[in-house]
Amino acid sequence: MAVTAVEVVYRGIFQKSLSRNICRTIVLAARKEGKIGTAFGRYGDSPERNGIPAKYFAIVADDPTELEETLAAYEPKEVAVTIVVDDTLCKGVESWAWYGLQPINELTVEGGTVLVTSIQPEEDLVKDMHVKDVPYNLSIIKGAKSFSGLWVYKDDHTDVRILGALAKVCPNLVGLEAYVDTIAEQSDDELKAHSARRAYDRVSVSPVEPGQGNPEEPFSFDKPGWTKMGEAIVIPGIEVGGGFRGGEGGYQPVRNDVFKKFSTRTMRPVINFETCTKCTLCWLQCPDSCFDVTPEGLYDSDMESCCGCGVCEDVCPVPDCVTMVNEEVFDDNSSQHDHWKRDRDGYMKWLDEMIVVAKSEKEVGAGRSHGFREWGEYQKQIEMTGVAGDD
Ligand code: SF4
Ligand code: SF4
Repeated sequence: MAVTAVEVVYRGIFQKSLSRNICRTIVLAARKEGKIGTAFGRYGDSPERNGIPAKYFAIVADDPTELEETLAAYEPKEVAVTIVVDDTLCKGVESWAWYGLQPINELTVEGGTVLVTSIQPEEDLVKDMHVKDVPYNLSIIKGAKSFSGLWVYKDDHTDVRILGALAKVCPNLVGLEAYVDTIAEQSDDELKAHSARRAYDRVSVSPVEPGQGNPEEPFSFDKPGWTKMGEAIVIPGIEVGGGFRGGEGGYQPVRNDVFKKFSTRTMRPVINFETCTKCTLCWLQCPDSCFDVTPEGLYDSDMESCCGCGVCEDVCPVPDCVTMVNEEVFDDNSSQHDHWKRDRDGYMKWLDEMIVVAKSEKEVGAGRSHGFREWGEYQKQIEMTGVAGDD
């Protein structure tokens, strides 16, 4: 090894402590092997905001000179391991010192690993991740998303389990014993070292071949060069929208062409156009002006703009007319209204299935809720993974 970098991709605020703990422990453990390292964070938005994709990095080198050479760069250009602490991020991340949507595996080197905490099957995660032209590995640590935010530390062993798995998928970064020793020094809970060892034994590793995954071209746009800057500061107002996707009637506001927000979303609203009373509340209350007014006076949320806050579900007075559903089950951002117009029976069948998904997840305690907390998530995670010592 000369220099090895890993990144932790997380949701701003909600998983900040978790990501920082992982990267700091990597650096402390590296010292035990006579290496040197540094850990640092990068926000996807400033100040860091709820749910916005953000990153932490850990860089480990054999000697200080090698490390210093890498620190001239704003962030590593490639990483041996991409750690993903919320599996909805596998669809790509936006608003992180780049422009457009960055595939989750963008920085992962050939033969490197994307390491995801998830209860989804491998094929579903691969389907979400953009195609790469070199082979890499997908590793899964079985477990639900853990939320250790800016002000809280959720001691559910997710950080130590990720470190144990990291020793398996990237042994030349830091070995398992160095992690275990560091974890033991930082905590008087012996179960943590045990959890790390067990994650080392249990993490799955599967190859992903070039061409496997989501073939879509990620959303991108050209940055204006500095020579294009005008004099003074000009903040153009939002222009008046016109028509509804080119049709007659309805209304679609003009939206930001470059900041789409959808990668912030972990839930999305699904709309029952048959029971909607056209009361306008969702349209009025949506903080991001996501709703297009259709020519019939219905309301269709634009999935490229929706950040999944759930306000529309809260304000809608009609039962099950707006239902927030886990983002994991969707494959694209297409219009629900277009789907309904094209195939009403098919849409209503699909909608019923979505509502069943949302309700059953809440019942078993696995569903998301607005604000990225999860009902009974910790309990479910313990049952699923046996974190607390069920040998
Ligand atoms: S969840 Fe509803 S209220 Fe929130 S951004 Fe999306 S459409 Fe708007
Ligand atoms: S709040 Fe509900 S009933 Fe009212 S317009 Fe929106 S979807 Fe229709």
